[in-house]
Amino acid sequence: MKRKITIAIDGFSSCGKSTMAKDLAKELGYIYVDSGAMYRTVTLYAMENDLISNGIINTEKLEAEMDNIHITFKFNDITKKPDTYLNGTYVEDKIRQMEVSNNVSPIAALGFVRKALVKMQQAMGKEKGIVMDGRDIGTVVFPDAELKIFVTASPDVRAQRRFDELTAKGDTVNYNEILENVKKRDYIDQNREESPLKQADDAIVLDNSEITIEEQRRWLINKALEVINR
Ligand code: C5P
Repeated sequence: MKRKITIAIDGFSSCGKSTMAKDLAKELGYIYVDSGAMYRTVTLYAMENDLISNGIINTEKLEAEMDNIHITFKFNDITKKPDTYLNGTYVEDKIRQMEVSNNVSPIAALGFVRKALVKMQQAMGKEKGIVMDGRDIGTVVFPDAELKIFVTASPDVRAQRRFDELTAKGDTVNYNEILENVKKRDYIDQNREESPLKQADDAIVLDNSEITIEEQRRWLINKALEVINR
């Protein structure tokens, strides 16, 4: 039996982290967790309960409500991806919408939100055999992860990918609005006080602006096997 490791994939928004993390987990038979989905779900909860309006967050109320926010994942056999549930209700589509993207970074900057979600993420990874993607996985959630990847791509490439993804789903979206959202989230994620997005010292950088998904897939599985077989 090969040893199980923890794999942390961090990086900027919309650079294909989730696709690569999900594919890698499948190849290794590991659990895959999209930590961004968890921050999006808390954001959706805040929006649906009028705890955020025009970017102003009712932090006191949200903090008091944190124990009432139960996030779970259920594997979807058709899409081959985990779907996100909020208090037992399917929210996978809702949490990907632009309105949530526009509100998520300020919610993810709140210390009490991060504390609660990091605790859940660490519990999910305690047996190892996990691939988790996010912003602070290699730095805060699993600082001892055996393999850390930091993914990046130019803002234009990332905006185009997000545009294609949402258009394919049938959403009517504006490219420039998406580009602005990508840049704004980069800024907030890198400059917040709590666990800002930054490359872990021992992370391997992958710029995927110019490589295909297949090239990326092979590169990543080789890196993982190198570490597992070490
Ligand atoms: O990965 P995704 O783009 O879906 O994440 C949504 C947002 O959640 C990010 O822009 C970031 O603000 C926040 N996030 C975070 N820490 C993580 C994962 C996501 O702050 N580990």
